[in-house]
Amino acid sequence: MAIQVLTPDVVSKIAAGEVIERPASIVKELVENSLDAGASQITVEISGGGTQLIKVADNGSGILRDEVEVAFERHATSKIASDSDLEAIASLGFRGEALPSIAAVTDMSVITRHQNDEAGTVINLRNGVIIAKDKVGCPVGTAISVRDLFRNVPARLKFLKSSSTENGHISYLVTQYMLAFPEVRFNLLINGRTIMQSPGNGNLRDALVEAYGLETAKAMLEVGTTDTDPSAYPLSGYISPSSISRSNRNYLSFFVNRRWVQNRTLAYAVEEAYRGMLMTGKHPIATINITLLPQEIDINVHPTKREIRFRREGDLFVAVQKAVRDTLVGFVPLPGFRPAPSLPSTTSPGFHAPLDYPKADAQTSGPLLHREKQSGQSHGQLPILRVIGQFRNTYIIAESPDGLFLIDQHAGHERILFEQVLSQRATKAIEIQGLLEPMVFEVTARQAELLRSRSGVLSENGFTMEQFGERVYLLRSVPALLKKQDIIPVLTEILDFLSGMQGSDWQEAIAASLACHGAVRAGQTLTFPEMEELIHRLEQTQLPYTCPHGRPTTIHVSTSRVEKEFGRR
Ligand code: ADP
Ligand code: MG
Repeated sequence: MAIQVLTPDVVSKIAAGEVIERPASIVKELVENSLDAGASQITVEISGGGTQLIKVADNGSGILRDEVEVAFERHATSKIASDSDLEAIASLGFRGEALPSIAAVTDMSVITRHQNDEAGTVINLRNGVIIAKDKVGCPVGTAISVRDLFRNVPARLKFLKSSSTENGHISYLVTQYMLAFPEVRFNLLINGRTIMQSPGNGNLRDALVEAYGLETAKAMLEVGTTDTDPSAYPLSGYISPSSISRSNRNYLSFFVNRRWVQNRTLAYAVEEAYRGMLMTGKHPIATINITLLPQEIDINVHPTKREIRFRREGDLFVAVQKAVRDTLVGFVPLPGFRPAPSLPSTTSPGFHAPLDYPKADAQTSGPLLHREKQSGQSHGQLPILRVIGQFRNTYIIAESPDGLFLIDQHAGHERILFEQVLSQRATKAIEIQGLLEPMVFEVTARQAELLRSRSGVLSENGFTMEQFGERVYLLRSVPALLKKQDIIPVLTEILDFLSGMQGSDWQEAIAASLACHGAVRAGQTLTFPEMEELIHRLEQTQLPYTCPHGRPTTIHVSTSRVEKEFGRR
């Protein structure tokens, strides 16, 4: 092909591709424009997962009638004028690319009125070109409607996920802005139904109620630096106590100078602060605002401004970690809470796992419990065991002609229940238990979307529920193996799995979660018959030596090893 300059139409579609990945990208750009326009009220309406319609209406400054056309030109912005302005960007937008990019891949109409204009203006665009302009009566502010996303870019359209997935992304995004701007009243409507509405009263905890539900919001702990040291980073927000956690990192939100950013260092700093307090695979909830001088950051590193660079990243890491840790340490944990040490994720199943887990036990165990190489057995069956007793209310001691066995009662029981759930589900015979009084289950907007599309998964796993309000469900029955206090945490976990996982992993993840919550706990005294029953059932599992998370269930010390240690051989 001969070298040629691309036509403006092709160029703008390419540029649009960088900014607009999916419907949520458009919502992001439009909402940011509304916020930059000083709106105190923003309504987002979606239908067809955003491919049919995205409408964002605000009560911000509006656009002057004479400037409406310019706003749609590439690199046209009212937010910066010279390159020195780039050093200190105070607005969310600054590149002047969003409107032309969106117009390139949609049909768009804009109704706007600036306070200095007597009448409003309406314009319609098709393929990025203004095809109509008129006067219209309307209040001060701007409403932009975008229809038929990617109609002219079929390749992109093909890559979009189901509407409920796209709706999920959109409600997640609106949640972030709701948390970043508690003084703005956000309204999100999906297919004509209001699914989120923040109070807009400036109180972050009230915004958290809308985002994560009343119970969680009430329990959140305030985090902040009171440091008067000018080199300290002023930060503020809320974090979850260690008794509340989630199965993915979607609940970690960071705002730098009120811009929502995704940054691994920040997420890592928060998670580090919880080290030793959460189970492996669990993540905290945090909403943290950081204020930095504009010179401290570079926003201009990512097409959608999602990532940002910090000049003193190391210092920031320390500051965030310290602030979170201080809050957690200052908070008296709930009675009965025991920190769970986290296992390195590289732990391989079976006997190859390090035996010093949990740490405290290894220290009191002496030389007997050094790693015993039993590779031949790690995938086999358990021998027939005779129960001798219980150690530290956590491990069952048993013997066989082969030697001594220590079985972690929780891990062993988890293995049993895990296989039981998988086989019951395969035969569609999950044992359920009806609830005399239905239980109320409050969900986030994103979870509500998931429930609409994936309620089948829940009923397959024994949860029968019916919708009661927009964001409230009533549970009628639950899997029989769950204790009452575990029902809501398990449901939350399952929804987290569903939102985070693709493919078939979640089936196992759900079974593992049910098994983990249904299993006896460490520290629980067991009677002899209970221990015998547990061992008997463990003998019948397919992979008795590992729990569903890959940790060992059993430590075996051979008779010959015991004899050697005592100098008999
Ligand atoms: P940027 O936000 O980077 O300036 P955009 O393409 O998103 O670029 O918007 C171009 C311009 O249109 C903005 O600089 C602003 O002046 C105007 N504009 C866009 N949306 C709104 C809105 N909702 N209210 C007022 N002005 C707006
Ligand atoms: Mg913009």
